[in-house]
Amino acid sequence: AKSHQRSSFSYFTVDMGVEIRERVRMMHALRAAFENERLFVVYQPQIDMRTGNAIGAEALLRWKTEDGQFVPPDQFIPIAEYSGLIVDIGEWVLRSACFELLELHKLGFSDFKMAVNVSQAQFSHPLFLQSLERALQDTKAPANCVELEITESMAMTDPELLIQTLQHIQHLGAQVSIDDFGTGFSSLSHLQKLNVDKLKIDRAFVNEIGDKSSEGSIAKMIVQLSQSLNIKVIAEGVETQQQAETLMSYGCHFAQGYLYAKPLTKLDLRNWLSSH
Ligand code: C2E
Ligand code: CA
Ligand code: CA
Ligand code: CA
Repeated sequence: AKSHQRSSFSYFTVDMGVEIRERVRMMHALRAAFENERLFVVYQPQIDMRTGNAIGAEALLRWKTEDGQFVPPDQFIPIAEYSGLIVDIGEWVLRSACFELLELHKLGFSDFKMAVNVSQAQFSHPLFLQSLERALQDTKAPANCVELEITESMAMTDPELLIQTLQHIQHLGAQVSIDDFGTGFSSLSHLQKLNVDKLKIDRAFVNEIGDKSSEGSIAKMIVQLSQSLNIKVIAEGVETQQQAETLMSYGCHFAQGYLYAKPLTKLDLRNWLSSH
């Protein structure tokens, strides 16, 4: 039994070593990709389901390696966060998205909104508000059409700092939405104090709409919650007409998902908008 324990212990450490080495390798590759401009931003339209019109888009980061492979964000964003690279990369995404927002407004899509993901490490960085202010000033993007997506789990850490930061963002004129809503555990009173502009129903809850067992009950509850708090609500990951219709029957009017459009390059987005 002893030798078995020892061997499983050493196996465990070797495994950990491999994992850490792999993460460090990916971190260097990500930094090189950022410096060599192999990261780019795609834009997924957000739709008013009543009219079918696009109301805005969410900026999503992409990494294409030199051999033409895409690394999924779910793999590299955690590494960017844990290494701190997300601060510079996130600022660059924000500036790119603000720049493209202004271009779209110039092309005549005048009420178009741009949603940008902001991770915990970025948001809690002491220079975050300054970098947001500079991004808005330098790009001359209309602040009231810029929407920062923070996750519900972030909404729970250090409530005082969070409330202050959100007030400052709103003072700059930008909007705030809570991403992946329903996956965390923020209390109702906390949510009310945060005074955010929008909730995003997590894809997992949209996905279960139509399942006999759940009847999409969580999505429905989130829509009702948003109505009673007077907060806008959008569903993400809408893939079927049935999901769209059910969401509309709940009173959710905004959606994002493959049913309407996949994330598009900026040129594809412009073309898509011109033909819709
Ligand atoms: P998220 O913020 O929840 O973004 C929505 C994800 O759902 C995107 O995945 C999008 O491509 C995907 N999606 C959209 N519609 C559908 C659909 O109908 N069906 C399915 N199955 N998926 C759909 P993506 O682009 O792979 O991004 C994954 C996550 O990576 C994002 O989740 C976000 O947390 C993070 N991320 C992406 N870009 C950035 C960024 O610039 N900054 C930060 N901090 N995080 C980012
Ligand atoms: Ca998001
Ligand atoms: Ca999500
Ligand atoms: Ca997410």
